[in-house]
This record gives sequence, structure tokens and C-alpha cells, in this order.
Amino acid sequence: MVIKPKIRGFICTNAHPVGCAKSVENQINYVKSQNVKAKAEIEGPKNVLVIGCSTGYGLASRITSAFGFGAKTLGICFEKEPSERKTGTAGWYNTAAFHEQAKAEGLYAETMNGDAFSDEIKKAAIKKIKKDLGQVDLIIYSLASPRRTDPDTGEVYKSTLKPVGQGYTTKTYDTDKDKVHDITLEPANQDEIDQTVKVMGGEDWERWMVMLNEAGVVSENAKTTAYTYIGKELTWPIYGQATIGLAKEDLDRAATAIIDKLKGKNVSANVSSLKALVTQASSAIPVMPLYISLIYKVMKEEGTHEGCIEQIEGLFTSCLYAKAPATDDMNRYHMEGKETNDATQAKIKALWDKVTQDNFHELSDYAGYHHEFLNLFGFDIQGVDYEADVNPVVDWS
Ligand code: NAD
Repeated sequence: MVIKPKIRGFICTNAHPVGCAKSVENQINYVKSQNVKAKAEIEGPKNVLVIGCSTGYGLASRITSAFGFGAKTLGICFEKEPSERKTGTAGWYNTAAFHEQAKAEGLYAETMNGDAFSDEIKKAAIKKIKKDLGQVDLIIYSLASPRRTDPDTGEVYKSTLKPVGQGYTTKTYDTDKDKVHDITLEPANQDEIDQTVKVMGGEDWERWMVMLNEAGVVSENAKTTAYTYIGKELTWPIYGQATIGLAKEDLDRAATAIIDKLKGKNVSANVSSLKALVTQASSAIPVMPLYISLIYKVMKEEGTHEGCIEQIEGLFTSCLYAKAPATDDMNRYHMEGKETNDATQAKIKALWDKVTQDNFHELSDYAGYHHEFLNLFGFDIQGVDYEADVNPVVDWS
């Protein structure tokens, strides 16, 4: 099959197995070039559970753990298997490529494909850890999902991306129609806020940690982190202070609850604040494609542009495995400073105020945004022959 991108709105509905494998290989090579073990100030992870392991920040965390520190990794993801006629999802192909590269280097890699919010997968993961790893010393929580089924009640909750308190009118860029236009987002009602907290808040992270601990598979002094985006004024009305931001605040509550509930184990639980990047999750958020196209422009000019792998390699070496990492008053780690510092934000704000339909492509780095968007699905990657006939059916073992 010759595979070309099929873009529908803010998502690409297919993926390229060879391109995804190349993208995973590029991230592995980056981590290998970083001398990660030497940079870390304390002993790195050995047995790692990555919840949301197949794309974006979770995949970068898995790659850093395995190829930076030589850790064994168990991953959890929710991806679609390919068939003869239809490609699998990018996360499927990324996972297959990760397995292949890990096994080639003698690194343990196992992945469970299923609903991380369910108790069934938690129990299956516990069983696997007991059998293969004994205990885990690092648990990464990197899920991004539009819905969650509550394992206690069976009720399905849906997350909403809306402002809180009052409506908000702002510029946005429609990637489908190539149009900069104003959008008005109506404020969320209380039910929408509560449902978003149920999906993207800390309840499931806490549930994972409590169940793992009760089963005796969390090691003494283990670490866990969940990822957040806090951002600044330009994105606060739609992110930081909106429904998703309130859900993310609930991660802070969960971090404290985890530390308390796992006291005997001396577990450290920190929320890690990361920079805005093109991922499948962020491209679905209104305003984000415009904001990210502008920060790419500014940060590339400043020489501070980073992708998921650079952010996560930095998080591991300067926060998670540093002797005395800096945290804020909520006990969070921060990796987004190169984006959110005042000088950079002022440049982004100046572009934001100026940007119109006519000058969008000149003022922004949409070309860079679009290139990275295609990369997420294994397209537009250097060294891949996109005219070649490829077998979409790829499996992992
Ligand atoms: P992503 O869409 O690339 O990855 C999401 C992962 O979650 C995938 O591995 C997917 O398979 C998995 N997943 C989703 N639903 C699942 C389910 N029900 N069961 C099992 N696995 C499931 O997203 P991302 O952008 O890497 O986001 C990861 C985290 O990082 C999120 O919490 C997000 O809020 C946070 N974050 C993202 C950004 C950004 O700009 N992208 C910035 C800061 C923080």
C-alpha cells in the first residue's frame, strides 16, 4: 500500500509505519546523544510504568527511560491495530518500532493496549509487573483523552474545552480551511467543568498509584509524575483558567493525596509543567494551532525551540533525577520557562496582536507547525520513501 496523509479537520486519520519508525529512531538517537546517565545527579529509573506510552510526551518518557537509562519499560496505550486495508494509528506503529529497537538492544519492553481508566488494565498491569519486574520505581502518567468511563459506576464522562465564568472571543486558526478568524467560546456550565475534571483530573492517576501500592508493586522511594500545561495570559482563557486548567489543577490535589496515601513508601509525586507542542492532543484545542505556530516562530528565532524528546530528557536529568530539583509552591517541576518567560511572551503577544488572515504565513511558523503535525503520523520525515509500497500490518511482540 502507498500511504499518503488523510487529514480530516485537526486530525490525520491514517499513519505511515516506516515514517513512525523513523521518528521513534530519531528520538532514540537524540536521547543516546545526550549522555543522560552522566547528566542525572542521582541513580536513574530501572523499572518504569508509562501510562499513555505511545505518542507525544509519554512516548518521549518511555524512550528516555529505556535508551537514556537502560530501564525496563511497561507501557499502557489505547491504539488501533492495522489491517490489510487500513493503517493502524501512529501510536500503534510507534510502539512496534519502540519494541523492535528495545529488543535489539536487549531492553525489556512490554505494552498493554487497552483502556487505562479501567480497573481491568490496572489489574493486568499489576500482574505483569509482579511476574516480570517485581516492582516499579517510576510511574509516568501521560494520558490525554476526551472521555473516561468511571470504573466504579460505569458512567461515561466527557471533557470539554471551554472557558470558565464568562465567554471568550479570540483569534484562532482553522488548519482545515487555512483561515484566521475570530471564535467565541461560550462558558462551560458546572456539569461540563465537573466532567472535564473527572476525565483529565487526578482521580485516575491517584487510583493507579493506590492500586499499584496495595498490590505491593511500588518500590521504596519510587517517583511518579503527571504532565500539565499551565501557559500564560494568551492561553489562560482557553487553557490554564478554563475547563482543562481546572482539571489540571486537580492533579495538584492528587499529587498530595498520593504522597499521603503512599507515606510508608516515601514516594515522590510531582506534577510536571511542560511547554506547548504539536501533539494529537494539543492540535484538537481551539487557539492552540495559532499560538503554537507563533511560539515556534519566536522560539526558533531565539534558538530555544524544543520538541517532546528535548523537554522530557531535560525533565529527567534536571528534575526527576537531580539532587535538589527546583519546585514551585505546589511542588511542581517546570520545564516550560523558555516559552513562558516575559520577554518571549511579549514577542508572541506582539505577533498575536498583528496576525491576520493576510499576514499569517509570514508572521507565524505554520510551515513548521504543519511539518511537525505530519511527523506525528509518520509523514514528511526525511529519509522515508513515501512512494514505496509498504505493508500496513505491523505487530509488536
Ligand atoms: P498524546 O495525544 O500525544 O498522547 C496521549 C497518550 O494517551 C497516547 O499514548 C494514547 O494512546 C494514550 N491514551 C489516551 N486515552 C487512553 C486510554 N483510555 N487508555 C490508555 N491510553 C490512552 O498527548 P500529549 O500531548 O503527549 O499529552 C500527554 C500529557 O501531557 C497530557 O496530560 C497533556 O495534557 C500533557 N501536556 C501536553 C502538552 C502539549 O502541548 N501537547 C503540554 C503540556 C502538557
